[in-house]
Amino acid sequence: MELRDRVPESLRQNVLILKVDELFRWAHANSIWPLSSGLACCAIEMMSTATARFDLSRFGYEVFRPCPRQADLLIVAGTLTYKMADPIVRLYEEMPEPKYVIAMGSCAIAGGPFADSYSVVEGIDEVLPVDVYIPGCPPRPEALIDGMLKLREKIMHPERVAAERAKWAERKKAKEAKA
Ligand code: SF4
Repeated sequence: MELRDRVPESLRQNVLILKVDELFRWAHANSIWPLSSGLACCAIEMMSTATARFDLSRFGYEVFRPCPRQADLLIVAGTLTYKMADPIVRLYEEMPEPKYVIAMGSCAIAGGPFADSYSVVEGIDEVLPVDVYIPGCPPRPEALIDGMLKLREKIMHPERVAAERAKWAERKKAKEAKA
């Protein structure tokens, strides 16, 4: 017998039955704490997202944290240079699990207008697994909100995230073996 079938008929509309990990996942998906970090112009759009006009707090995502140990989302907003790649990876590693990455803007996705430059990494997924990509130069705050809502769906389905990260790790390993 299903657990929900044990609830008396009179209480069915008033009682919520779910597994504890589903409850935690739901709470997590609706209270993401992004890290306050930005690399270039896209970061200005990211900051605008938290202003009253766009009101990110409607979704429970407005608590930007200055410390990676208190954050669960890294929004890579801007051009990633080789000089900044190691510090970004270090920030990511200091974040507690479960943690997520959004690549915001064409620079973070693939180097953007600087893709051929000697100093620019051709996308953050060269160094970190990315959960959501938001195209644009720069993407507007609405696009970032849309990306965060897409991340919310992914948080509710951790098996998808795990499969994508496993593929990313394989690709990275193959690239390193070629180099
Ligand atoms: S994508 Fe465009 S706006 Fe964003 S950091 Fe690159 S150049 Fe700047």
